[in-house]
Amino acid sequence: MKYYSTNGQAPEANLEKAVVKGLAEDRGLYMPERIKPLSPEFFNQIENLTFQEIAYQVADAFFGEDVPADTLKEIVYDTLSFDVPAVPVTDRIYSLELFHGPTLAFKDVGARFMARLLGYFNAREAENRLVNVLVATSGDTGSAVANGFLGVPGIHVYVLYPKGKVSPIQECQFTTLGQNITALEVDGVFDDCQALVKTAFMDAELNAHMKLTSANSINVARFLPQSFYYFYAYAQMKKRGMADNLVVCVPSGNFGNICSALFGKRMGLPVKRFIAANNANDIFYNYLQTGQYNPRPSVQTIANAMDVGDPSNFARILNLYGSSHEAICNDISGATYTDGQIADTMRDCLNENGYLLDPHGACGYRALQEGLQEGETGIFLETAHPAKFKDTVEKITGQPLPVPEKLAAFMKGKKQSVSLLADFTQFKQFLLEQ
Ligand SMILES: *Cc1c(COP(=O)(O)O)cnc(C)c1O
Repeated sequence: MKYYSTNGQAPEANLEKAVVKGLAEDRGLYMPERIKPLSPEFFNQIENLTFQEIAYQVADAFFGEDVPADTLKEIVYDTLSFDVPAVPVTDRIYSLELFHGPTLAFKDVGARFMARLLGYFNAREAENRLVNVLVATSGDTGSAVANGFLGVPGIHVYVLYPKGKVSPIQECQFTTLGQNITALEVDGVFDDCQALVKTAFMDAELNAHMKLTSANSINVARFLPQSFYYFYAYAQMKKRGMADNLVVCVPSGNFGNICSALFGKRMGLPVKRFIAANNANDIFYNYLQTGQYNPRPSVQTIANAMDVGDPSNFARILNLYGSSHEAICNDISGATYTDGQIADTMRDCLNENGYLLDPHGACGYRALQEGLQEGETGIFLETAHPAKFKDTVEKITGQPLPVPEKLAAFMKGKKQSVSLLADFTQFKQFLLEQ
């Protein structure tokens, strides 16, 4: 399979180049040249397949030409070593719980897949140069990528995160690992971290000095595997006889997650429509209303993994729909919530349904509660476990929230990080000295 750039000014790449480079030479995002529809037989009996079996069929459509079947199967099965259950919250709203992986957030899926695929490509190379993964995080990306790549031979990971703007539990998940993981604490906001990473990939001197790759949601190896669980969600709803008129709601920041769902739809996934739920960073919401895309600096919210002012995957959505605002609006509607509304939603949902939402999932739940029409069933993505935002959640609900064992284990380690200014020259110097 060939991959082209959303900016249209770079040569096509094969899968290995798209994964290792992350971003095309013209700063565009890679897109697969074809999106293969899955067969009617697959959808007819999807409810009888396991998550891993479903995911392998989807993976084969994207990666089957480039990775031997047995290797791809191993990567998929190994990546998905945990369940993603669809759990009823009300009679017509379901939560797709994506927090049963190692770092309790959906990014485990893409990060684990990418680490294994990159490991496969790296082991195949004759010269075996160290691959340096640069990743900017507003919280959960860093922990998922760091844990996904931890101990993978031939790979070193640098996690850039905004100082004081990720929760203490999130911070522990990528600053305490050691080994092949280095945490860089940047004096700035998430967009500064993302800009540093993007600039590094364009810097000729740096790229000559070391092999750099990205593990942000722009990377096709992180982004495409996220489509797996939309098919599995559909399968679970079909098993319940509730798959007709299905509305899928995705709490969105960089828009990688919802974009992979849109790819799923192109492959034939029978979802009626999508809702992109935003916090106060409502750039996409405003685009849907006006047709104008006006990025601006992000503001801090209690759903901090969605604090993004210039969502990188917007370029992919535009490309997928031929830049047609109308076509985009036909498939996706938007919602935006203030911190106050998110907190109210968490309290109300707990009181009314006995279901504890995290601040991100709360945006998704509320958008369905307000937006579902007659005859529709909704499923929102519960993108992280509420305990990852323990302080915020406890303040809102007024109830103590026990920390799951998996999370508590991270808290025991010692924080190790390097402080940096939001300054490319300093960042470059640091990398050159490694
Ligand atoms: C990353 C993240 C999001 C946003 O996902 P995107 O793919 O960037 O839109 C939402 N919720 C949580 C908990 C996240 O970590």
